[in-house]
Amino acid sequence: MNIDLHSHTTASDGVLKPQELVDLASERGIDLLAITDHDTMDAFDTELVYPSNLQLIQGIELSCKWDGNTVHILGLNVDRSHYSLKEGIRSQKQIRRERAHKIADKLNILGFTNTLQAALDLSDGGQIGRPHFAKHLVNIGAARSEQQAFKKILGEGKSGYVRADWAELGVAIDWIEHSGGTSVLAHPTKYGLSKTKLLSLFRDFKNRGGKAIEVISGHQLPDETFRLVTLCDQFGFLSSCGSDFHRLGESWAALGQVPKLPEQCRPVWTDWV
Ligand code: AMP
Ligand code: MN
Ligand code: MN
Ligand code: MN
Repeated sequence: MNIDLHSHTTASDGVLKPQELVDLASERGIDLLAITDHDTMDAFDTELVYPSNLQLIQGIELSCKWDGNTVHILGLNVDRSHYSLKEGIRSQKQIRRERAHKIADKLNILGFTNTLQAALDLSDGGQIGRPHFAKHLVNIGAARSEQQAFKKILGEGKSGYVRADWAELGVAIDWIEHSGGTSVLAHPTKYGLSKTKLLSLFRDFKNRGGKAIEVISGHQLPDETFRLVTLCDQFGFLSSCGSDFHRLGESWAALGQVPKLPEQCRPVWTDWV
């Protein structure tokens, strides 16, 4: 089976519209796809058309606070009409809007004017995020690439960085689990945590009711996979895999082209297919 449980659309910082993403997934022979936009489920507002051999999972990627860090928790197979999840998403959207204003204020001090409107235009009604500011900075020649805009200006600790007051880890897990979904710690090795800190994150995630770990996040080295499989086993987590697809042309995050979960993993999707 071709399974990809982490992808983005224009509802957040992805480039394809929800229908275009589903079309691409179908073209690539994906059997099980989750759309997991940042702090929004608006991709599911319009009816999506896809063949019956493709199964679509309603998901979300929630930004949350953990021990002074921002970490991402995927909610898979959630009921988006559930009141506590709905309220949670409303609050996260508000936090994103307020953060966008603060980012624009900081950029203004740096001499970049009217960046809020520009980023809002680029987000085109979708959930606003730092990538929209990054794109604008590239458009006006302030950075060579979005990556460089993060490295120079928007990344943590840089002059345009704003720490957001996201939901606490445990609160985000509750929204997901109470709405019938499964909480998955996304791309655990991408937070720059030390080995000790990563263990501590796994422990807290487990203690607060977290269910699964994203063992495969796009293209990754076998060593990294092995390390996560071992940790998963140690803590008794289920395993997930996804590309974290945002756009075409990024080989490290190609839709439907993720390595298979190792045999010894207990997949998160067993009850869904
Ligand atoms: P936000 O959730 O608005 O803070 O933005 C985080 C998003 O920015 C991530 O989901 C990535 O899509 C993107 N991103 C994070 N770091 C980088 C980077 N160094 N270069 C380019 N894009 C990045
Ligand atoms: Mn993103
Ligand atoms: Mn993420
Ligand atoms: Mn993602």
